[in-house]
Amino acid sequence: MKYSLTAYDKAENELKRRREAVANEHEAHAQEIAQKLPEIAALSRTLTENNCDLLKNIVGQKGHGKDLINKIRMNNLNTQRAIKDLLKAGGYPEDYLDYHYNCPKCCDYGYRDGVKCQCFTELLKKYTIEELNENCSIKLHDFSEFRIDFYPDSDSSGMSPRDRMRTVYSNCREYADKFHTNSPSLFFFGRTGLGKTFLSACIANELTKKGFSVVFGSLLKLLRQIEDEHFGRAEGQTLDIIENADLVILDDLGSEFQTSFTDAVLYEIINERINLNKPTIISTNLTKNELNSKYNERIVSRLTGCFSPIMFMGSDIRHVKLKNNL
Ligand SMILES: [Zn+2]
Repeated sequence: MKYSLTAYDKAENELKRRREAVANEHEAHAQEIAQKLPEIAALSRTLTENNCDLLKNIVGQKGHGKDLINKIRMNNLNTQRAIKDLLKAGGYPEDYLDYHYNCPKCCDYGYRDGVKCQCFTELLKKYTIEELNENCSIKLHDFSEFRIDFYPDSDSSGMSPRDRMRTVYSNCREYADKFHTNSPSLFFFGRTGLGKTFLSACIANELTKKGFSVVFGSLLKLLRQIEDEHFGRAEGQTLDIIENADLVILDDLGSEFQTSFTDAVLYEIINERINLNKPTIISTNLTKNELNSKYNERIVSRLTGCFSPIMFMGSDIRHVKLKNNL
């Protein structure tokens, strides 16, 4: 996956911020301990002196050889142990004076042995996707904002949209709670204004907070962006990002200006993510018949065969809100 320059800047700044936070925390702890447990400060000085001796030996100015180095090492270990014991006795955690890096593998520098550390790659991915989401933005929502009272208790066919939507809501919550990178793909369908985009936004919000990479955009905008990049009118790697994200939510299938290019891209996205065993959520206002007549059989068979269908019911929430002055 390629990352944008802005993503590099943001990731490097974030690593710098993390290193500074760790250094500040360490400094604050050291000052606190120097006041409250002064005997530890004395031991810390011994440790520093030991290390100076060790350094002098390594550069060969004293030349006492291996035995002395081993002796100093043992001294160091004993002093470190004594410091930890004193901290514990003083009611502090043993590691109170350690540096607590977010990523102990690279000490928050982002590189290990000249190779990008996983923490750096994760940040780059996160910021690249954030940038894409900003371009194709849909407002994020929280599950707590969901209003079951917007759905009627019964309709003309004798069904209860409210009961149905209660199930849909808990299915979406459970999906977000138990999400993993091989979760199933979902297909949200139902008329316009029933909360498909809203619940997608809740899932996107919840998973982003948990640190998953989520691309969430209207299919119309995402396809337009991919088309512009493909024909050199814009820069970016939208298709690449979409194929690599942990979850992709394509909102409002059927709203795009359909061409053979958009159909080919849509199929590639759906098919590639199925092959990679990665989940996708697609929502649409189209009926089954409209879907069949609008898209070729390859796309329809992927959607019907590899996605779990979730039906939305009720009355258009925008009308309910207008009626109730909300
Ligand atoms: Zn790292």
